[in-house]
Amino acid sequence: MKTAQSEAWFARAQARIPGGVNSPVRAFRGVGGVPRFIARGEGSRIFDVDGNSYIDYVCSWGPLILGHRPACVTEALLEAMETGVSFGAPTGREVEMAELIAQIVPSMEMVRLVNSGTEATMSALRLARGFTGRDLTIKFEGCYHGHVDSLLVKAGSGMATLGIADTAGVPAAFAGTTIALPFNSIAAVEKAFAERGSEIAAVIVEPVVGNMGCVPPVAGFLEALRELTSRHGALLIFDEVMTGFRLALGGAQQRFGIKPDLTTLGKIIGGGLPMAAYGGRADVMQKIAPVGPVYQAGTLSGNPLAVAAGLAMLRYLVAHPEVYETIEARSAQLTAWSPPGVTVNRVGSMFTFFFGEGPVTDWESAKRCDTARFGKFFHHMLERGVYLAPSQFEAGFVSAAHSEEDIRHTVEAAREHFAGTL
Ligand SMILES: *Cc1c(COP(=O)(O)O)cnc(C)c1O
Repeated sequence: MKTAQSEAWFARAQARIPGGVNSPVRAFRGVGGVPRFIARGEGSRIFDVDGNSYIDYVCSWGPLILGHRPACVTEALLEAMETGVSFGAPTGREVEMAELIAQIVPSMEMVRLVNSGTEATMSALRLARGFTGRDLTIKFEGCYHGHVDSLLVKAGSGMATLGIADTAGVPAAFAGTTIALPFNSIAAVEKAFAERGSEIAAVIVEPVVGNMGCVPPVAGFLEALRELTSRHGALLIFDEVMTGFRLALGGAQQRFGIKPDLTTLGKIIGGGLPMAAYGGRADVMQKIAPVGPVYQAGTLSGNPLAVAAGLAMLRYLVAHPEVYETIEARSAQLTAWSPPGVTVNRVGSMFTFFFGEGPVTDWESAKRCDTARFGKFFHHMLERGVYLAPSQFEAGFVSAAHSEEDIRHTVEAAREHFAGTL
């Protein structure tokens, strides 16, 4: 496989962009080698600058549930471009977007649009503090909620990949407002509430974790979070930036039947453009400026292009519920076999092949995986034209554009790897 063009771009990139990338995990540090520079995408595939083609299971890290360049999104973008790309004044489509979100995710009675998942979680957390008059947050080890100062404590995704437990640059006072507990441990959450319940503003959780690899909640865990937060006057925040519109149209909260107080959305909601949202109980959301005292703003929030793309995406999903059956069936096909020494976790169309004996239920068990073995698997798959996330601690995504043939090729390539290593 030729990589000369990617190598040339990467050399240039490293001189002017830290690590050569605009987001750390793209740099392939978790697996070694040179990141592929992508020229274009179409359906289930991406094509790099050397002309290699790959079946893409990263899907822009989640947003592309319909694959690359779905006609509905491209058409909506072209049309929106004709009328202007930004006004900094309200538009009707933002209202339609808020109404549609409330319809799809009923717990989100009111919604604010922002530009990234990080902004959404940062704002939801500030709102929870403003609403409760409390400072502390419970989060879970291995969950990633964007690069919000106080949430970069024992975080997943790139922090897990690079082995950074707690980032430099976060004042101890900020990190001190966060209580990090093991995911899936009801006892740990009960203990924290027993000790400091009256100081806890919110529990924030990825209801199905994607950012230490895919880790589902054990039975009763989400229910316990709901019960404990309610009992102690804290808010429950579901960070559905990854799971929203992915695990079901109405996200993990629909799939598991739990109603959080606040929800953050991102990724799929923007149809591939930078957009995210937070929302929830109307009495809580009414605390946001200009109606309430909690300040949050954004020059490009509700950007017309992003809203047009997102609306087109969500309307398509509403009109085509069979998408969820398709991607679930394809994902089941992809994970219906167990390579030796590998634990396969899957919920809906999110999956991870953990290179270790399972079960993988939290960060302790995830981090025991053999990342070197994963790296070899990753590069074998890349050579065979399959683009997986370049880290053991990320979820893969199946889109509606992935064909049975794509999945068959992927499984064949994977089997070949394991046959070769036995
Ligand atoms: C991706 C992600 C974020 C951060 O979103 P950005 O748009 O990258 O800032 C937050 N929470 C979860 C669960 C995510 O998967």
